[in-house]
Amino acid sequence: MYINGEWVEAGSGERFEVTNPATGAVIGEVADGDASDAERAIEAADAAFKTWAATTAYERSDLLHRAWMLMTERSSELANLMTTEQGKPLKASQAEVKYGADFLRWYAEEAKRVAGEWLPSARPDQRFLVVKQPVGVVAAITPWNYPISMLTRKMGPALAAGCTLVLKAAEATPLCARAIFGIFHDAGFPPGVVNLVTALDPKPIGEVFTTDERVRKLTFTGSTAVGKMLAGQAAGNLKRVSVELGGHAPFIVFPDADPVHAAKGAAALKFLNSGQACISPNRLYVHESGADAFHQTLTERISKVRAGNGMEDGVGVGPLVNDAAVAKVERQVDDAVAKGAGVPVGGGRLTEGDFAKGHFFAPTLVTGVTDDMTIYREETFGPVAPVITYDDVDTVIDRANDTNYGLAAYVYTQNISTAMRTFEGLRFGIIGINDVNPTSAAAPFGGMGDSGLGREGGHEGIAEYLEVKLGGFAI
Ligand code: NAD
Repeated sequence: MYINGEWVEAGSGERFEVTNPATGAVIGEVADGDASDAERAIEAADAAFKTWAATTAYERSDLLHRAWMLMTERSSELANLMTTEQGKPLKASQAEVKYGADFLRWYAEEAKRVAGEWLPSARPDQRFLVVKQPVGVVAAITPWNYPISMLTRKMGPALAAGCTLVLKAAEATPLCARAIFGIFHDAGFPPGVVNLVTALDPKPIGEVFTTDERVRKLTFTGSTAVGKMLAGQAAGNLKRVSVELGGHAPFIVFPDADPVHAAKGAAALKFLNSGQACISPNRLYVHESGADAFHQTLTERISKVRAGNGMEDGVGVGPLVNDAAVAKVERQVDDAVAKGAGVPVGGGRLTEGDFAKGHFFAPTLVTGVTDDMTIYREETFGPVAPVITYDDVDTVIDRANDTNYGLAAYVYTQNISTAMRTFEGLRFGIIGINDVNPTSAAAPFGGMGDSGLGREGGHEGIAEYLEVKLGGFAI
């Protein structure tokens, strides 16, 4: 773990092993921290806060820039580590390192743009001054599916704002977290400003993060169930909370869209990270007029997606995170088939030869999906594209909105009015219009409903780490 500028073992001396999900091989060991280690890290962050908050935005910007440069220099070793620890294909790891590094560069610049306001008053002898100040010590909890960018997306804005931070990395991917904290150490961040806790059991750490009075803000990315539970715990102490949670993205192909182009987009998007993305499309609504062409192209594309170890050339989907994830996908596909769905490609676990050592599920197309199937309601988090053929253009937005999640949605249309109406009508935080990659460090990412609270990225992202202070001056 990294606490107060030093690499340390857990107080208990315990460690746990980290494995490669493609091969089952043990690839490293990290400290197994507990509640007392989390408290130690908070103590360091609390002690460092006053001095760090008093640095100039220019000093914080320089350090973040240095971290971005180191991350860029080390991008290929970071990508190799990510594929070995998390399983995604090497090219996808390279793309994530670049995306993750962008949050450091963008917030290095944004640090200098945290400005206040000077407001007129109705009283002639009064002036108002509004300033923004860092909220204080931030506790962060991150997931395994994007084991680098989910860290920098929190650390960039928190540090730019002048907060200090304690982060608990996902138990499946602590080595990536360690590599990122190595970069912050080498960039020269003062002791206590960033602290990393690793642990096999996240529960006691979560309890400390949500109850310790020195922590002023909790930021979490992960499942909706855990996010709700942690937000509930934090509410007792009125901590600021932002949570980025699960999704169940609709992908709507309107009759005026090119179904072949849309199917290519769907194939490119669905298998990113083996479908283990919160913005992965989970319900593909295709108008019946383009359904044949869409199905044909998607079938061809999915048949060509090769599953395997992400370090091998030509592999398009890697393993899932663990066996429970494979079992969940299998249960959803079996349920759909039992209720009448077709499976023209894939449909089951991959267990032959080298696949037996990892957690693999075949890239799969499910057709004829209906509202009564589990896959229509539950986030899949696996390489399965469920297609629904629809005929009524007037009700498809309502059908897409019929979920408690509200993270991402995708729309294919060539008609500007349809695009605008759909953009306005969908209750999701991120909408891709003929676009399968609507994310960037410069843009606010986040969801509505059960998909979360708050935004990461953009101007909105740094506001999550700032308090607003009003001064009334009688002159
Ligand atoms: P998860 O909730 O199980 O784990 C996420 C993190 O929470 C991990 O660090 C884990 O150790 C920790 N955690 C788990 N139980 C905890 C507890 N009781 N107390 C404190 N911490 C606890 O989720 P996951 O399976 O790792 O991640 C997948 C989920 O994350 C998906 O639902 C996905 O959609 C979501 N996700 C959302 C976004 C987003 O920005 N909205 C991004 C990536 C992933």
